[in-house]
Amino acid sequence: MKHIKPPAEPFRIKMVEKIRPTTRRERDIVLREAGYNVFNIPAEKVYIDLLTDSGTSAMSDNQWSGLLIGDESYAGAKNFFHLESVVKNIFCFNHVIPTHQGRAAERILFEALVKKGDFVPNNIHFDTTRANVEIRGAQPVDLVIEEAYNPDSDYPFKGNMDIERLKKFIDKKGPERIPLVMITITNNSGGGQPVSVRNIKEVSQVCKQHGIPLFFDACRFAENAYFIKKREKGYEHKTILEITQEIFSYGQGATMSAKKDALVNIGGFIALDDDLLAEKLKNLLILSEGFPTYGGLAGRDLEAIARGLEEVLEEDYLEYRVNQVAYLGQLLDNAGVPIFKPVGGHAVYLLADRFLPHIPRHQYPGWALTVALYREAGIRAVEIGGVMFAHKDKKTGKEIFPQLELVRLAIPRRVYTGAHLEYVAEAIIDLYKNRDKIRGLRIVRESPHLRHFTVRMEEI
Ligand SMILES: *Cc1c(COP(=O)(O)O)cnc(C)c1O
Repeated sequence: MKHIKPPAEPFRIKMVEKIRPTTRRERDIVLREAGYNVFNIPAEKVYIDLLTDSGTSAMSDNQWSGLLIGDESYAGAKNFFHLESVVKNIFCFNHVIPTHQGRAAERILFEALVKKGDFVPNNIHFDTTRANVEIRGAQPVDLVIEEAYNPDSDYPFKGNMDIERLKKFIDKKGPERIPLVMITITNNSGGGQPVSVRNIKEVSQVCKQHGIPLFFDACRFAENAYFIKKREKGYEHKTILEITQEIFSYGQGATMSAKKDALVNIGGFIALDDDLLAEKLKNLLILSEGFPTYGGLAGRDLEAIARGLEEVLEEDYLEYRVNQVAYLGQLLDNAGVPIFKPVGGHAVYLLADRFLPHIPRHQYPGWALTVALYREAGIRAVEIGGVMFAHKDKKTGKEIFPQLELVRLAIPRRVYTGAHLEYVAEAIIDLYKNRDKIRGLRIVRESPHLRHFTVRMEEI
């Protein structure tokens, strides 16, 4: 087995946050009280928290000092103008509209653009994007390439849109029923896999031919740009900024959750070119988020986002970030633990059905793995499988399971060290060696929508 090393962190630590290991006995009690649902576990009882990379970043000294110069004027705060100029430089759109997080940006954009009976194509819609399309009475459509669902294919851009399917779809439904096309970079629901510039360009050409605007779901745009630099021919000598500017030049706008690649704990924005649409969005924004120069955020938050967006473009940061995630994947892969390949930008995904072949789908192997991982090592991960995404047959009530049964280990940005990841890898490898002992679960109580957040289980 070849020896591998974690990437050296391109920062040093000047403030620390205590995390406390718990005993197995303690965790047993916590699990019972939580109904075997890791969403119900108090964060203080978690040692390494890999539930999500959203809003969990560590801010830099530069960002923290920016908080102190927050201008809390109701209108025209100076931090807004800073944010606006940074976003214009990276995204190259004329209008920047802050929102309190990504889903607010989606809701406002779709309220202005999407109506009943419409269709919105995307590579794969993120949950909140999907829900915000559906609530308009429209249908979200996922048109990602086939390789996206194959955990063994090493295709470098598994987030790509299937161009032929997109063309056929537009021909079938007619462009008048498609108010916009979206591309999610990186493709979160498809494992954080990147989309190539070439693919974005092709999607843009198809959209242009039919007069359909193209918007990006841009949450992890910098991680996507780094993959382009490393994997796409012709981009190896471009800067991350040059790559992002080119990406966004092919579209008409973007929605952004600043909780990802803006390296902050809360915030988001919409950026776009169309003046009339921007006017409409600002009016909607005032109803629920606030005046267009703050959009539901404090002036200090706007400053932290502006500074985070500048930092996220730094190549030594991105190299460390992407390699840190890849490092965890490599440790697991070397030990024969089944993972989704190649490893994406923000998380490693365990293939729970291969990890626990003795647990049938209706006993939720992915969920069982999250329970075991917490019990044995105090690590919190999230199931992305049968509990989260099964739907019930209308006649028989029988559960129909999604193709993939995954457990996601999302890595917060700048939070955990190489040694933390080694602890995680060792714990999972140990679990894998003792996988026969892990038991399935049955549902005791569930809600009809988004049941994974509140479901209560018991072990079989
Ligand atoms: C997180 C996320 C969103 C929603 O953003 P929030 O800030 O959580 O509201 C939308 N799309 C993608 C791809 C995301 O990862």
